[in-house]
Amino acid sequence: MEENPKIKELQQIVIAIANRGWCPATGGNFSVRVESDFCAITASGIDKTTIQITDFLVVDFQGKVVSGTKKPSAETLLHTTLYTLDSDIGAVLHIHTLSNTVLSSHFGEQDLVTFQGYEMQKALQGITHHDTEVYLPILDNSQNMNLLSENLTTRWDETEFNYGFLVRGHGLYAWGKDIKEAKRHLEGIEFLLDCELHRMLLSAKKQ
Ligand SMILES: [Zn+2]
Repeated sequence: MEENPKIKELQQIVIAIANRGWCPATGGNFSVRVESDFCAITASGIDKTTIQITDFLVVDFQGKVVSGTKKPSAETLLHTTLYTLDSDIGAVLHIHTLSNTVLSSHFGEQDLVTFQGYEMQKALQGITHHDTEVYLPILDNSQNMNLLSENLTTRWDETEFNYGFLVRGHGLYAWGKDIKEAKRHLEGIEFLLDCELHRMLLSAKKQ
């Protein structure tokens, strides 16, 4: 696995993301498509700040391990479902942060967050204006990955899943055509969520 440059690139990005405090308590999982029907994904329960190349596994899109010795992330099925739903997705990044956990819970029954008016929206592929409405779907959390994956597939055609989605009370998934674009989308969305959270806190203080 060592010789695959995509895995090496992902390892460096995972360490950088974890060093921002976005993977507390071994949370989060990360993958990159290494061939059309295979991805490399982080193993379960790894401290991402010190992740090694041997902490990645290659799996097919049925979740079967084809390379590596560790146990793949519990959320592998969500990654492989995304790669199956959109052949242009090249990397999938998932983090648990204070903002994405609190906000995804706060919206209650709402199944979508809408961003509008933020310059940072232009970090997202195809968005050229701060006035454009950007949608971030919210899926209900479940420990049953088959159920979560089925919900994602059902919502896929009826909602705009362009860059990522939230799992309620759990975290943020973001993706891109390659690792760099996925990282830009992850950082952009996380910044937008921070903005929304702070805006709500300020308006609550004013009342
Ligand atoms: Zn998670």
